[in-house]
Amino acid sequence: MIGAGAAFACVLAAGRAPGEQGRGAVSLGNSNEGRLENGIRIPERGPGYVATAGVNQDAKWGTEELVGAIEAIAAEVARQAPGSNLVVGDLGFREGGEIPHHQSHQAGRDVDLLFYMADKAGAPVRSRAVRFDAAGKGALEDGGEVRFDVARNWLVLRELVESRDAGLQRVFVAERLRSLLLTHAEAAGEPAWIIERAGEAMCEPAVPHDDHFHVRLFCTAEDYRRGCRDTWPIYPWRRTELAPLGIVDVETAPPQPRKASWKRRYVRRVTPGRVWCP
Ligand SMILES: [Zn+2]
Repeated sequence: MIGAGAAFACVLAAGRAPGEQGRGAVSLGNSNEGRLENGIRIPERGPGYVATAGVNQDAKWGTEELVGAIEAIAAEVARQAPGSNLVVGDLGFREGGEIPHHQSHQAGRDVDLLFYMADKAGAPVRSRAVRFDAAGKGALEDGGEVRFDVARNWLVLRELVESRDAGLQRVFVAERLRSLLLTHAEAAGEPAWIIERAGEAMCEPAVPHDDHFHVRLFCTAEDYRRGCRDTWPIYPWRRTELAPLGIVDVETAPPQPRKASWKRRYVRRVTPGRVWCP
């Protein structure tokens, strides 16, 4: 493992010197109420990806860490499985802020990614918005069937966890698909620390996310200094990274669902043993 703070040093060295105004994207506020300054626009296509699946036409903007993470995932999966194409949905608007069809995606640190999928014989097929069941099967509109490509989708998680520059906070995904991914990772002998962090990061929210991943990155250290704020959860390993940077004002407890709200009803039926995912 890389020592705490090393990744932040890389980020700062890559054009994020403290106090340097007007250079580098800055995420402000949090994903549900935030903004983006000097955002990076993801190209419509690049090595191993196409950014054409968004529901908002100009939701192509994010921090360089977010765009860099998408490009790194796409490149790594294409390296291991040539011909793979990651299909990227909405990031956020140029200056962040509220965006139709999403509660979050406001601060340049969120992106929707369609799953990698395969046909019944295991050959890769073009990704589209298909819902997958607990067996990893999905039905196409024309009656055909596709499979959740668990091996390639696991690479998305592994790349995000391994990349300290990315600063992965959350991957919203249905619990049944989280189970498939973790079972695959264990069978494949993946490093325990990567499985553990991926398992922590993946979480099923009230809207199940069974047809795409929603990835959220943490604020960078420089973002924090400019007013970026992470919401819960802040994992113990994350606090260990932040403390030497003097960043201690982080949320340490989940927000309490209000009485009788739809969220409280959801808590009662959340998968046993798993925390509520706000
Ligand atoms: Zn999303």
